[in-house]
This record gives sequence, C-alpha cells and structure tokens, in this order.
Amino acid sequence: MPDLSSRDIKFLPGVGPQKAALLNKELNIFSCEDLLFYYPYKYIDRSRTYKICEIDGNMPYIQLRGFITSFETIGEGRGRRLTALFTDGTGTIELVWFKGIKFIIEKYKLQTEYTVFGKPNVFGSKLNIAHPEIDPIEAIDKSPGLQPYYNTTEKMKTHFLNSKAMQKIMYNLWQTIPEALSETLPAWIIARAQVIYKNEALRNIHFPQSPDILRKAQFRLKFEELFYLQLNILRFTKLQQRKLGGFRFEIIGDIFNRFYHECLPFELTNAQKRVLREIRADVGSGKQMNRLLQGDVGSGKTLVALMSMLMAVDNGFQACLMAPTEILATQHFETINKLVKPLGLQVDLLTGSTKKKERELIHNRLLTGDTHITIGTHALIEDTVNFSNLGLAVIDEQHRFGVAQRAKLWKKNNKPPHVLVMTATPIPRTLAMTVYGDLDVSVIDELPPGRKPIQTIHQYDNRRGALYASMRKQIEQGRQIYIVYPLIQESERSDLKNLEDGFKHIQEAFPEYEVCMVHGKMKPVEKEVEMKKFISGQAHIMVATTVIEVGVNVPNASVMIIENAERFGLSQLHQLRGRVGRGADQSYCILMTSHKLSEDTRKRLEIMVRTNDGFEISEADLQLRGPGDMDGTQQSGIAFDLKIANIAKDGQILQLARDIATEVLEKDPELILTEHHILKLQLQKIFKKKFNWSLIS
Ligand code: ADP
Ligand code: MG
Repeated sequence: MPDLSSRDIKFLPGVGPQKAALLNKELNIFSCEDLLFYYPYKYIDRSRTYKICEIDGNMPYIQLRGFITSFETIGEGRGRRLTALFTDGTGTIELVWFKGIKFIIEKYKLQTEYTVFGKPNVFGSKLNIAHPEIDPIEAIDKSPGLQPYYNTTEKMKTHFLNSKAMQKIMYNLWQTIPEALSETLPAWIIARAQVIYKNEALRNIHFPQSPDILRKAQFRLKFEELFYLQLNILRFTKLQQRKLGGFRFEIIGDIFNRFYHECLPFELTNAQKRVLREIRADVGSGKQMNRLLQGDVGSGKTLVALMSMLMAVDNGFQACLMAPTEILATQHFETINKLVKPLGLQVDLLTGSTKKKERELIHNRLLTGDTHITIGTHALIEDTVNFSNLGLAVIDEQHRFGVAQRAKLWKKNNKPPHVLVMTATPIPRTLAMTVYGDLDVSVIDELPPGRKPIQTIHQYDNRRGALYASMRKQIEQGRQIYIVYPLIQESERSDLKNLEDGFKHIQEAFPEYEVCMVHGKMKPVEKEVEMKKFISGQAHIMVATTVIEVGVNVPNASVMIIENAERFGLSQLHQLRGRVGRGADQSYCILMTSHKLSEDTRKRLEIMVRTNDGFEISEADLQLRGPGDMDGTQQSGIAFDLKIANIAKDGQILQLARDIATEVLEKDPELILTEHHILKLQLQKIFKKKFNWSLIS
C-alpha cells in the first residue's frame, strides 16, 4: 500500500501550496491520509426528485425540479430580501435569499428548468427554502447517487475551498491511489462483526453509490473507531490487573456482622444487597477492584460505602471516603460516626479547615494505623497524608474528581487500594464504557421503600403570589424549603447580587419565618453556621447556590425551588431535585423561568417534569448536549475527537466493539499472535500521540 501518511497534500492535483497551507491551518490536514480520513458530515440524496405537493416541514435536504415564475425584492436595508416563486405544476414554493441578491437575479432566468436543492421550511401555510442551491438540469444528471458535503471554515470558503472543491480534491486523491488500501482489521474480526472491507468503506464514505452501501461504509468505520478505542482501554486494564494484583479481603468478620445485625437502622434494599455482593466478590478475588457505583440521588450509596469500608477494617486494613465538598464530608462523618458508634471504631474527619493540631494528630493516627476510617475532602490526597495500610478508597460523587486525583490515591501504598467510585450522575452505559472503560459498573436501581415520587412543576416568574401561598402551606405543615439560584463563574458578581436580592426578598415576604443563606463565596465557618440552621430545623427556608447540589441530606425538606431554571443543565437540575423527596412526605420541585425560553430549554424542562428517572434524564442530556459537555467527561481526560462514531447514538456498535475487543484480549492479552500483529500496529499508530490515561487508573 502506498504510504499515505507521508505524502504531503500539496502535491495533489488541484491542491498546491496555498490551498495546502489553508488545509493545514484550518483543518489540521497535512498528509493524504489525513485528507482521506476527513469524512463528509452529510449526504444529499440526489437520486430522487420530490414533488412540491409532497413536502412537509420535517424533511431534510431535498431536490425539486421546476421553473421560477417571478422574482420580488422585499424590505429595505439590512432586512432586504429576495424571494422567487418556484413551481413544478404540483404546487408552489418560495425561494428566499438575504444575501447576494443582485447576483441571483442576474444568474437565474425565468421559464428555465432548474433543479433546486435545500431544506424546506413551513411558515403557517407557506413553504419556503432559504438560500437554495440551484443548478441547470443538465449539470445534475451527470452526478447520480448521493452527494457528500464536507465541513469547511469561513476562511476556506473565501478562498474558494468550499464543500464542492473539497469533493473534487477527494476525487483527485482517490485517483492517485488505485491499488487497494490495506486492511486494518484481522480477517476473523471482519467476519465476526460482519463489516465490509476498509478499502470499500473508504471509497463509499466519500463517493457512495447508494444509501445502502453508505450505511455499510459508516458501520464499518464507526465499528473500527470504537473497536480500537475499547481495545486500548481494556488492554491496559487487563495488563494492570495481572501485574499489580490487589489486597485479598479474606473474611467477612465480626465488625461487618455486628453492624449488620445490631446497628443497621433498616433493611437493605435488594439493590444494595446485590451491589454489596458484587463488591465482596471483587475484594475477595485477589485482584484490585476498580468499580463505579451508580445510583440515583437518595438510593443509599453511603450505606454501601460504609459496609464496604467495614469489610476492609475486618481484614485489618484502613479505609477512606473522599467527598467533593466540606459540607458533604462533614455530613458523611456525622452519619457514619453515629452509625458505627457501638462498634468502637476510630473514625476521623480531615478537611481543609481541620485545625493544625488536630490535623497532626490525625496524620499520626493514620500512620500508626489507629484510625480505621477516614472521611475527608481533597485534603486526604495531599502529599503529607500517609496511611499505614489503606485497603479501600471510596470516592463519592466522582464527577468532581479527575483521573489524576484518583491516581494520587493509588500511590499512597505499595499496592493500590481497592477503589469504589460513587456517582449520582448516572452516566449512560455507552458513555461509562468509553470514559470509564477501566471500571466495572454496579447500579443501585431501586430506592428505599416508602418514598413518594417528587412532583415537578414548571412555573413562570409572574406567578410568585401563588407560589408563596403554597410555600407557606408547606412550612405550616412543618416542612422546609430550598430556593436555589444559579451561580456561574463569568457573571459571578451579578449572580451573587441576584442571590442576595432574592434572600432579602424572601425575608421580607416571610417575616414570620427564619431564612438562611449559603453560597460558595462564604468562609467555611459562616457556611457551616448557616447550614446547621437548616439541618437542625431552626431555619425554614434556605436560599442557596448549587453548593447544596451534592449529597446534602435534610429529610424534612420537601420543596426545592429553582430560580432561573433555564440556566441549569439537565443533570444539574436532577441533582438539585434529589435534595428533596428524602422523607416520607410528598415533595415538590418548582422550576421557575421567565416566558422567554429557547426550544432546547423547553425540552429540558419538559423532560424534568415528565420523569424522575436519572438514567432517562442523563440519556436525554447526552442527546441534547453531546458527550463533550456531559458533567464529568471533561475532567476525565478522554478526548471526544471521534471522527465518525457518535457515543450518544451508536451504543449498539460500541457494545459490539467492546465484546469483540474483550474476546481478543482474553485470547491474546499482549497481542502477540501473528493474526493480531495488525492490531498492535494500529494501536501504536492511533494512540502514539495521545496521552494514555488508562495507564494511571
Ligand atoms: P445517596 O445515594 O444519594 O448518597 P444516601 O446514602 O444519602 O443516598 O441515602 C439517602 C437516605 O436514604 C439516607 O437518609 C439513608 O439513611 C436512607 N437509606 C439508605 N438506605 C436505606 C434503606 N435500605 N432503607 C431505608 N432508608 C435508607
Ligand atoms: Mg450521597
């Protein structure tokens, strides 16, 4: 095969030094291989011509054939536009231009047959197409099949490197590589996955002859992309597991059993039991556990964490639980300390505001092994903290911790401790597989009994009177209320003012009740005082920013009001909502917005009102925002620079890719078989520049 990766594009017919420089700069395309892997972003089916009477508002780009019957220029100045009536005898559609009016009028003639190409829109009963592509009939008939469209930048367009020009360059490129391109998957995988050959796939991704072969080409290329991603992630996990091994927790001992029989205030849910069995199997296996525990807010993850830590303690190891905020760490500490009191264990709390003297004592107890369980924040992973024998580290609400921080915990021992990562942001399975391919996943998919589903209501700002009346009713029944304001870094100052105004306003509206306020800019001590007011029930209403998002548990709080709900993402709204509905009472979540909302926002709010299911919400979030924006993926270190696969949509292909990658590694963990030589080469090629984060987790 010709080595396309070392052939400079500037020598291609139709490219030359100037265009090559543009392609370098704008699209990062240097070699013929880079160019070949620059796929079209859409295709237009020119094999079919529609009739105007068939058009509805939901169609993609379509092709019509007919005549322009009139032109009309409407409006003045910047609002000026050109419209043309276009008919094919079955109906009439309006063509609209906002730019290049003079050019269009001169170029296109009345009573001449054209093909018109574009996306139809419906306004009331009228149809139109804005900035259509228009060609004389003869020009079109020569290019049947699907027409590829390539993304180009503004700068490229001004230098005449538009999609059409890219198409031509691709064609020229293809002419220079007449020999078959070599295959990049072993024959048995091609057969198993039922994909077409690489050569055929590449040709048809650029020049598809039919929608059917295009689908096959896309399937092949998506599969390959996801397959190598999975192979890479899984390879390091398997290697690491074999190399490092883990502590074996031989027994379920006295401490665990006494806790289970004497201290547990309620029956475990079946889901909690199942997950504990999964963890038990891991920590007893001699391999290091790396497990992600997903469970919706309020599903009882803390208890699972605690009981896992007791397994460690029973086997003579220390355990720690790391939380993302001080408030949360403190709350965990209090809950856990109370629960294990009868067992006589030493439980310590280590956070940024632990006093120096106390801190030294704790550091010392950790070293001597006198501390059994440590709960804390980032303070736990500081270099000055050393354990005598850390056997299990639990990380709560993982999306605030990056992979690098996880890795720091590993190094606190000669052997890495078992790791349990807990998250209430349910990551869709497909995403978890890609981002945390190295973690096994457990799910708590059942809430403790007796919870009533939270009712969610979307309300407009101008209905505050009614809202206050129902708030009052709730407080009279002894309930407490959260009011949350957005606080976003860039507009911090005005947001803070917004929050403080809201606080004053609520104080004035509810003079007979106590209102407290918490936000991230407060000193920890102040925050603590205000939080305590609410937790103890002294304050009836808490006005806060999203600092209360994570983990805070006040079962008596039954109403969550979210101001400017349009400014929050779906997952965040769901997290906030999870702060209520923890007791036996009916709880409510009120999403406040103004009337002016974008389409996307409306969709988000509708989803929130419709469902309480965290997984459904997170799937929807993934669909609406794309994986790059998902909470947690940014810090996770994986670059979502997939060329063709889409994590949100290609779940089935991902699963297939993962299954086959697993099969490969079970058969040949180090990829030394001759038939797998190709895999090794491809991995080296694909991942040579990327930092391999799998190595450290
Ligand atoms: P999360 O999964 O959001 O961290 P928590 O662990 O904070 O949830 O648990 C939420 C509440 O449910 C706590 O008050 C906890 O005591 C309670 N809880 C946990 N497990 C059970 C159970 N099996 N039965 C009843 N209540 C439970
Ligand atoms: Mg929690």
